[in-house]
Amino acid sequence: VRRWHFNKRPKQDIEPDTLVLREEPLAALKDGEFLVRSVYLSMDATNRLWLGDLDLYMAPVSLGAPMIGFLAGEIIESRHPDFPVGSLAAGLKPWADFVVSDGSDMQLMPNIPGLKMADAFGILAVAGPTALVGLMEIGRPKPGDTVVVTAAAGAVGMLVGQIAKIHGCRAIGIAGGAEKCRWLTEEFGYDAAIDYKSENVVERLRQLAPDGIDVHFENVGGEMLDAGLTVMKDFGSVVICGLISTYNSAEPVPGPRMFRNLIMRRLRVEGFVILDYAARYPEFQAKLAQWMLEGRLHYRLHVVDGLDNAVDALKLLYSGGNQGKVMVRIGAE
Ligand code: NDP
Repeated sequence: VRRWHFNKRPKQDIEPDTLVLREEPLAALKDGEFLVRSVYLSMDATNRLWLGDLDLYMAPVSLGAPMIGFLAGEIIESRHPDFPVGSLAAGLKPWADFVVSDGSDMQLMPNIPGLKMADAFGILAVAGPTALVGLMEIGRPKPGDTVVVTAAAGAVGMLVGQIAKIHGCRAIGIAGGAEKCRWLTEEFGYDAAIDYKSENVVERLRQLAPDGIDVHFENVGGEMLDAGLTVMKDFGSVVICGLISTYNSAEPVPGPRMFRNLIMRRLRVEGFVILDYAARYPEFQAKLAQWMLEGRLHYRLHVVDGLDNAVDALKLLYSGGNQGKVMVRIGAE
């Protein structure tokens, strides 16, 4: 089996020797275990945090241990009664072309007629539930509210705007570059887009949301969060979903300059981690899959071929080189 290992802690950006791919023998299956042929590996911004030594929401990856990520594949051998050969399973597993599980860290994937495995895994495994919970349960917008989303052309962001629209809100997306901004309004249903690379974000937010932002959905942190906090409406909500602009820093990054607006604007600011909602996945997936099948949820998948290219695929997230949800295709569907 070919498996990536955490080799050396990066100072900032992931370095060529941070992760190494090794070939290792695979032990025979024990009773209660099953063998999965990997098909897709989800690349998530948070993967970089697991390579650091800051205090997180879960244990980081230990030096020398296999690198982990959300993975989906086909069960090809089984000594577990609930995981039959031929079915699809997904879970938090090593970056490897074959993985073994005892069922404690993998679940059977829901079979959704009409959805390909790439769509089902790419949208329903992490990004979709995150967008849904973050917007509807943490942000809690009302119809007519103005919702602002950062990293809006990314995996989570492209879905948040559409879910906001489905619920009768106005959606403004912030992304880097004219092309991504065009996707926002033409493909992902955003009412307006702001290119933070070429426009003054605070000025544009003030034009587009003259009465202020009701719900700000933060994926980036730093200057983007400050821009949102500057233009919030009184009693607005700020969803802290991610702070990707800070993930390559070895040290905690100072908080927002506009922290004072938590009191000036009487804001509710709340963070969340989607792993805490695992028990409700069937409910989220049913809802998201229905919107996908009805053509109400559009998305882009950015599939990179080959386990060898996993590190390069992950790095796309921090450079903005990704065009939608990044997944590595390890084997055929
Ligand atoms: P994306 O597909 O959105 O890719 C990341 C995007 O972030 C890039 O394309 C880039 O977009 C933008 N970006 C990266 N670095 C910077 C920077 N320094 N400044 C501004 N923008 C930057 O990734 P995901 O959808 O997977 O993740 C988005 C966010 O959601 C992350 O912060 C992630 O941690 C968070 N998340 C949180 C979860 C939770 O449970 N709370 C679960 C899943 C994700 P552009 O080209 O527009 O700059």
